[in-house]
Amino acid sequence: MSQNTNDPRPFKRAILKLSGEALREPGSKDNISPEIVTRIAAEIKDAVDNGLELGIVVGGGNFWRGASASARGMDRATADYVGMLATVMNSLAIEGALSHIGVTCTVMSAIEMKNVAEPFIRRKADHQLSKGNVIIFGAGTGNPFFSTDTTAALRANEMGADIILKATQVDGVYSDDPRTNPDAVRFESVTFQHCLENRLSVMDSTAFSLCMDNDIPIVIFDLGPDGNLSKALNSQPIGTLVHCE
Ligand code: UDP
Repeated sequence: MSQNTNDPRPFKRAILKLSGEALREPGSKDNISPEIVTRIAAEIKDAVDNGLELGIVVGGGNFWRGASASARGMDRATADYVGMLATVMNSLAIEGALSHIGVTCTVMSAIEMKNVAEPFIRRKADHQLSKGNVIIFGAGTGNPFFSTDTTAALRANEMGADIILKATQVDGVYSDDPRTNPDAVRFESVTFQHCLENRLSVMDSTAFSLCMDNDIPIVIFDLGPDGNLSKALNSQPIGTLVHCE
């Protein structure tokens, strides 16, 4: 157990945020790699079998990002709806892989599409999580101009999650950009306040505020290396813990 009194590990209930890009094999033209999704599902099963209550929010950036399409002339709200639908495709891929290995799970969509997903109903999702079933929150918040990071922060608050586990392509939060500053050091833990004052990027500002204001800690970790996801899901120290004072 960590010495940091603001460290919620070991935790009971978590929201895992996966970027859409995490589902793509680097360099591949396929938006979703079935092999990667299978590997992610296996690591999730292990943690859920150990008693973790898990909600998953997956992005859609492997297919589409509303802001990029808007910068190229498309109406932003429309582009964002396309992005939210992209997250549902990723959610279904994860649901399929989890179900295939015997994990009870459901996609709950913020945009109703009853032939492929249940509608998001907060109390129902909470109940399912309590029973040990995994919920995959599809279609973001259901609103344009938001991100799936914000969705993760929102659902974490609604579900009373102890923590958000944000899987990324970097192994934590650094004192500066490690790509441009070789002296940048990685924090094992850092406060929201420090991140804010030093403009350290953790999540977009809406998501960041939701977590900071409601005291939801975030672990930022690198999904790449085998076993990292297991460590994060099983409350082991990994990446950087961002927490309140
Ligand atoms: N999106 C949205 N509202 C939400 C969540 C997502 O409009 O509540 C749209 C937005 O266009 C975003 C896209 O869905 O660019 C994909 O989500 P995100 O960029 O967060 O995915 P990630 O980068 O995590 O793969």
